[in-house]
Amino acid sequence: MTVTEQMPADHLMSRIVDGPGGFSGIDGDAQWAAEVRRLVELRGATLLAHNYQLPAIQDVADHVGDSLALSRIAAEAPEDTIVFCGVHFMAETAKILSPAKTVLIPDQRAGCSLADSITADELRAWKAEYPDAVVVSYVNTTAAVKAETDICCTSSNAVDVVASIPADRDVLFCPDQFLGAHVRRVTGRKNLHVWAGECHVHAGINGDELADQARTHPDAELFVHPECGCATSALYLAGEGSFPEDRVKILSTGGMLDAARETGARQVLVATEVGMLHQLRRAAPDVDFRAVNERASCRYMKMITPAALLRCLVEGADEVDVDVDVAAAARRSVTRMIEIGQPGGGGE
Ligand code: SF4
Repeated sequence: MTVTEQMPADHLMSRIVDGPGGFSGIDGDAQWAAEVRRLVELRGATLLAHNYQLPAIQDVADHVGDSLALSRIAAEAPEDTIVFCGVHFMAETAKILSPAKTVLIPDQRAGCSLADSITADELRAWKAEYPDAVVVSYVNTTAAVKAETDICCTSSNAVDVVASIPADRDVLFCPDQFLGAHVRRVTGRKNLHVWAGECHVHAGINGDELADQARTHPDAELFVHPECGCATSALYLAGEGSFPEDRVKILSTGGMLDAARETGARQVLVATEVGMLHQLRRAAPDVDFRAVNERASCRYMKMITPAALLRCLVEGADEVDVDVDVAAAARRSVTRMIEIGQPGGGGE
């Protein structure tokens, strides 16, 4: 469906340019925000934004949170249309959990380097090598990979999920090698095989950098937010002693916002995608929050621009579709994840 009856949107739409980095040409200003809200109402939609979205997108959304919390909100929302401002696998997860709803993503080219590091064919070939193994996949995977998975996990419940599997069964863990290494260290499990996948953003957060930051900011706390692949390397490195243990807090989204409000530290270093800083600064304006590395920004997340969101609401595109059988199989692995431990990273 195309929404045609609004003049301001037509005027703004004429400025949109489609380039290699996505749609651009529109500022996320008050006029744009008012038009977005009007179009959301007109479509009878719920607008969801992931924590790593641009500040303007977070501020105009109905709900901001981590991917699983948003998928649950999508499933429970009374509206029939979900506009998911995040990367493609997240919108797919919302569709898996809400198959009857229309799920839109402002730009379907917003992928994820971690999700792309294993395909369903590669996973099938790996499973053929270990026919009796249990497959555990991080939520940062495509629907097709989730359909080949026994149990999905988040960074919050990965250890509990693996611990729930009988000790004599091999486990195939994919695609995040840092989360896999963390789980292997914590569980001490030798029969946990880890896929060598990674997120491009975590490259900006390394052990030397963490150790340097600990030295140059001796009074600062370190918050690690491993909800996405961008900070699982920091989770692993903090466990290896790169930062003094008593100053490290491994936190979910909700836990991080609570800790921000309660911290006695004047300065907090944050190992996460830089988008999370917007919410932290809003929650505790007196604390000096600094990214461990300002380059830890996900280019896919930032493809959801003000221009992309406007186009999405006007044109009803891009619609996220998941094959019915794939969705049913993927839903089983996601449901098992929800049954074990604390899958939610908090959320709003
Ligand atoms: S930060 Fe990394 S893991 Fe998260 S969406 Fe971007 S590429 Fe994927």
